[in-house]
Amino acid sequence: MIRKKLIAGNWKMNKTSGEAADLVKDIVAEVGRSNDVDVVVCPPFTSLESVGKALDGSSIKLGAQNMHPERSGAYTGEVSAEMLRSLFASYVILGHSERRTYFGDTDAFVNQKVTAALKAELKPILCVGETLAEREAGSTLKVVQTQLEAGLEGVTKEQATSVVIAYEPVWAIGTGKVATTEQAQEVHAFIRDLLGKLFTPAVAGKMRILYGGSMKPSNAPELLAQTDIDGGLIGGAALEARSFVDLINAAA
Ligand code: PGA
Repeated sequence: MIRKKLIAGNWKMNKTSGEAADLVKDIVAEVGRSNDVDVVVCPPFTSLESVGKALDGSSIKLGAQNMHPERSGAYTGEVSAEMLRSLFASYVILGHSERRTYFGDTDAFVNQKVTAALKAELKPILCVGETLAEREAGSTLKVVQTQLEAGLEGVTKEQATSVVIAYEPVWAIGTGKVATTEQAQEVHAFIRDLLGKLFTPAVAGKMRILYGGSMKPSNAPELLAQTDIDGGLIGGAALEARSFVDLINAAA
């Protein structure tokens, strides 16, 4: 099963609207017409519109970093899937470890967001991963299994191929400490096997599983060469056009 690689930039809480548009213009200039790799940029909500405009006519897709599961209502500070769609977002990162750790996103809440995103035809990038303590306790696979089973509850086989999974060991995010290729491939293979059980092996064979956590141009080629690593969710190295473009080229 050939899966097209996907490189997604998670800009986190960085860049004003103008700065974001400038960054994306530089990325578009270099790889805006490339079709070898799927590319997604996920700026903060406040930059979705300017980045969307700068992406217009390119093959690069727009994503958000979070959303609320309800369509509208009294949810101060929140943004719905419909609002993201109206700005032409097609992906949304859900269950990122920073949301789980700092903002109390539970597996159940992440699951509500995943199903709401799919209903609105947004592709979820569902993040899972263990903390250092969990890895040292030998519970990595159990943690990942729980997050995946809960996060994907109610998702149909038909919908599953629109879901992207991102395996992000929490201890590797923003730390410069990347998982070894063996550590990453082991978890990715486990995830694909589990997706095969939750859906079907054929569906699992079509789903993309990204690695995230201190991925950069120097370590990407080895990670991306692994059988079950279908791309990357990139934080720090997505904030600068040169390194993001180099990562895209590494996946081509
Ligand atoms: P990082 O972040 O590449 O800066 O480690 C990845 C992420 O949190 O998605």
